[in-house]
Amino acid sequence: MERIYQVVSEEDMARQKSFAAAVRELPHRPETYFIVTYGCQMNAHDSEKLAGILEEMGLIPAAKREEADFVIFNTCCVRDNAERRALGNITWLREVRKTRPELMIAVCGCMIQEPGMAEKILKQYRFINLAFGTANLHRFPEIMYEALESGRNTVKVDTQDVIPEGLPVQRLRKESAYLTIMYGCDNFCSYCIVPYVRGRERSREPSAVLREAEQLLKDGTKEIMLLGQNVNSYGKGLGNGITFAKLLKELDRMGVPRIRFMTSHPKDLSDELIDAMHDSKHILPQFHLPVQSGSDRILKKMNRHYTRDIYMERVRKLREAVPGIGLSTDIIVGFPGETEEDFRDTMNLVRDVGFDSAFTFIYSPRVGTLAASMEEQVAADISTRRIEELIALQEGIQQETLKRFLGQEEEVLVEGFSKRSDEAVSGKGRHAVSVTLNGEAADIGNIVKCRITALKHNTLMGERTAGVK
Ligand code: SAM
Ligand code: SF4
Repeated sequence: MERIYQVVSEEDMARQKSFAAAVRELPHRPETYFIVTYGCQMNAHDSEKLAGILEEMGLIPAAKREEADFVIFNTCCVRDNAERRALGNITWLREVRKTRPELMIAVCGCMIQEPGMAEKILKQYRFINLAFGTANLHRFPEIMYEALESGRNTVKVDTQDVIPEGLPVQRLRKESAYLTIMYGCDNFCSYCIVPYVRGRERSREPSAVLREAEQLLKDGTKEIMLLGQNVNSYGKGLGNGITFAKLLKELDRMGVPRIRFMTSHPKDLSDELIDAMHDSKHILPQFHLPVQSGSDRILKKMNRHYTRDIYMERVRKLREAVPGIGLSTDIIVGFPGETEEDFRDTMNLVRDVGFDSAFTFIYSPRVGTLAASMEEQVAADISTRRIEELIALQEGIQQETLKRFLGQEEEVLVEGFSKRSDEAVSGKGRHAVSVTLNGEAADIGNIVKCRITALKHNTLMGERTAGVK
C-alpha cells in the first residue's frame, strides 16, 4: 500500500531545534508559559510536547495563566461546548492583556485545523499572536521565531499528514506516561470531526514505539498508556506485518509494569488482541470500548460497522479471556433520528453489559460531518432528558459492578495525596477504578498493595497490606 504520509525528516527536526535555540537567544522572548488544554488524552499528550518545546526555547512554567508571559490554548472541537469554552477563555485573556501588553497569546490544536477556522481567527480574534494546527506542532519553534521577529500575527495550518519523531516531552506525571502509537483516523463515524482535523490514520514504526517505551522504563515509568484514535488497527499500512496485538506482546516482554491503551473500536477488536490480553502479565484487566449506541439502526447511521450483537459478543469474549475485566464506554444520545425505542435499546445495552464507567455525551452537530446535514435532528430538551436518564441508570449500575472489589486485594499506582486527608493517598487500581488508601508521600509514584474495605460513590476505599513494590 502506498503511504500517504511521511515521517518528518531528521533535517527538518534539526532545523526546528535550531529555531528553538534561536528563540532562546532573543532578548524580547517571553520568560514564562502556561498551557490550557481541552479535550482528550491525545491533546493532553500534545500539551506535554508543547511544554517540552517551550522549555527548549528557554521558557519556564508559570503558576497561573494570568501571570504567564506566553499563554497557549491547545483546543478541542469534538463537541460545540469544548469549542465555546476555549473561545470564551481566549477572549477573557484579551482583558488581561489590556494591563499587560507584553502578554503573548497562542492557539493551537484541533479547532485551528477546522476548515475556515484559521481565517476566522485572523479576522475576529486579532489579539491572538500565533495560531497553528495539529499538523504544525513540530514546527512550533519556527512559528514562534517568526512571530517574535516580525512582531506580526502568525498563522500556520498545513493539511499534510506527518509523523514527527523525537519531539522533546515535558511529562506531567513521571509514573504514568502517554505514548502515541498512531495518529489520525480513517473511520469517518458520521458524527465525528476527528478524521477532518487529525488527518489520515498513520502508525508509528514499531521500532520507534519500542525505543520510546524502553526509555520510559529506564526513567522509572510504572505505567504506559498507549494512545491512538483506533489502536486496534495499529500497523495497517506499515507493510511489515505488525499488529496491535503483536506490539502489545513486545511491550509485555519488555517488562513495563502496567500497560493500558485507548481507544479501541469494536469493529477492529480481534481475537488475536483478546488472546494477547489473556496471555499477558502486564496489560491491565481494563478495556475502554466505545459503543456509542445500543440501536442497530443508529449504529448504521453512525457508520460504526458493528451491531449490538457483535458488540455483546466481543464483551463476552473479553470477559471469558480476562475474568473480572473492567469495561468502560462512550455513549452519544440524541443522534439524528434517534427515537425513544432506539434510546431504550441503548439503556438495555447498558444494563446488559454492566460497565464500570461510561462517558455520556449529547450529540453535537459538527460542520462538515455527514450527520450534521441529516434530517430529524433531535430537540435539545429530549436529548437532555435522555442523558439524565442514562446517567442515573449508569450510576446505579456502577454502584453494583464496583461491589465486586469489596474484600479483594488490589494494586494501586499512587498519584498523590487524597483531596480529603493528608494521611490518605489515591490512585488507580488495575481495573482503572480510583482507590483511596492510607499512605504517605513516599508512596506517590509507586504501586502499593491494599485490601478494598468500602465503596464511597465511585471510589474504592483500601487498607494497605504490603510495602512499596
Ligand atoms: N476514537 C475514539 C472512538 O472511536 O471512540 C474516540 C474519539 S472522540 C475524541 C471521543 C468520544 O467523543 C467518542 O467516542 C464519542 O462518543 C464522542 N463524540 C465524538 N463526536 C461527537 C459529537 N459530534 N457529538 C457528541 N459526542 C461526540
Ligand atoms: Fe471519531 Fe469514529 Fe475515528 Fe473515533 S473512530 S475518532 S469516533 S471517526
